[in-house]
Amino acid sequence: MVAPTPGKAPKKAKRPGKVRHVPERTCVACRTTKPKRELLRVVRTPQGRVELDAGGKKSGRGAYLCAKYSCWDLALKKQRLEHEFELPALPAEDREALLAFMATLPPDT
Ligand SMILES: [Zn+2]
Repeated sequence: MVAPTPGKAPKKAKRPGKVRHVPERTCVACRTTKPKRELLRVVRTPQGRVELDAGGKKSGRGAYLCAKYSCWDLALKKQRLEHEFELPALPAEDREALLAFMATLPPDT
């Protein structure tokens, strides 16, 4: 009888695919809750500018939108961002920039 050899215990590998707590945010257009990283953040800066915050790191009040043309279209047409940021209107320049960004989004399937 051979005693079972303990051998080298395999190191407990961290499971790469394991998801822990995922912060979620709601799209201001379609009101769908999604993981924050799947949404695009628009920020109202302390200077009163409204801009896309690609890195999600800018300070200011944020609003989230799906990376979908339809959500941006709705948000811009229905003044959802203005509502979210409590602004009477987006600065024209910023609105232009957001519209230009929207044009790069894929249309919904
Ligand atoms: Zn959406």
